[in-house]
Amino acid sequence: MALVDSSLATKGIDSFAKINILKRHFYSFASHLTCKKIINFAKTEINLLRKRDYLNSYPYILKIEPSNICNMRCCYCYDDRRQPFDNERPYGRMSFEQFKSLIDEVGAYLFKINLYGFGEPWLFPETFQMIRYATDNNIGVAVSSNMNLKKENLHRDILDSGVEVLIVSIHGMSQETYSRFMKGGELNIALENVKNVIRERKARNSSLPFIDWQYCVTGFNEHEITDAKEMAKQIGIDQVRFIKPFFPDHAPDEWLSSMFPRRTAEDDEANNRGCSWPYRSAYINWDGGVLPCCRDFRLVANDFGNVFRESFGSIWNNGHYRSSRRLIGAPGKNTCHTMCARCPVTRRT
Ligand code: SF4
Repeated sequence: MALVDSSLATKGIDSFAKINILKRHFYSFASHLTCKKIINFAKTEINLLRKRDYLNSYPYILKIEPSNICNMRCCYCYDDRRQPFDNERPYGRMSFEQFKSLIDEVGAYLFKINLYGFGEPWLFPETFQMIRYATDNNIGVAVSSNMNLKKENLHRDILDSGVEVLIVSIHGMSQETYSRFMKGGELNIALENVKNVIRERKARNSSLPFIDWQYCVTGFNEHEITDAKEMAKQIGIDQVRFIKPFFPDHAPDEWLSSMFPRRTAEDDEANNRGCSWPYRSAYINWDGGVLPCCRDFRLVANDFGNVFRESFGSIWNNGHYRSSRRLIGAPGKNTCHTMCARCPVTRRT
């Protein structure tokens, strides 16, 4: 089963780890099955195969950003957390009621929600409420966090929420290398929080959340990969992935590792496997702005619609979506200029 986010989650890692990730996705899908979801899944895959631009199906995975506010300033992330220009999305957070209204419309089709975007999800109490609501509605939730928060009950709140997968971003094994990439962070706080979650999970005799350590390999931390593997084993992390950071083209040489050197246009071309996002998934910004993926999220003008002002269903088959599906292979004339027209993926298709 080709899943929209399994390919993303398996970039830059070895085949053994890829198989484990695919097994985990399969388990997650199998444990949230309903007849409605299976029928929708089948319709989605047929629509994709037949390259239709108008869909009789809904996405089966959503990426929802609870907030774009973060407590850290990692190298490259969100343009160094600069203030947004007038035409850009401001900083803010989604309310629980807004999240609930979206889930009440499309939740019956969803196997999974990736509840994170360009902010730190654990900063705000409504994230826990959102996870609980999704979980109670038979949807698996994954959260990605820097775990760099001083919150006494964080580990208990995480376990209570029912989150299925906890992706932890820790990019370095010494305070020096860690803080060169993750500016403003303290390695010990992040590690202690992860250890507390693992202890709490053990105390409750639970296998969830699955702890997925995401380690962006840079010129600063490449030499610490062996130590990271050792630490992961020692503290009981389920999986560690050494992945390629999405640095901008102008990133200084010292940021880049020998494992993941600077990307070229040829690399983009070689890695271009087409796109299935406008069929299987969608990216919902904290303010309700809907995008097909998170590639070009800052400009509000890129939004295909706003889910807090109109139904998701009416956006899903509007001119923006139909044009984007035509750009990635569906027959027909483009009626809107969307961000997909500027994407390397559509240059070949
Ligand atoms: S911007 Fe590119 S990757 Fe994103 S949905 Fe459009 S074609 Fe796909």
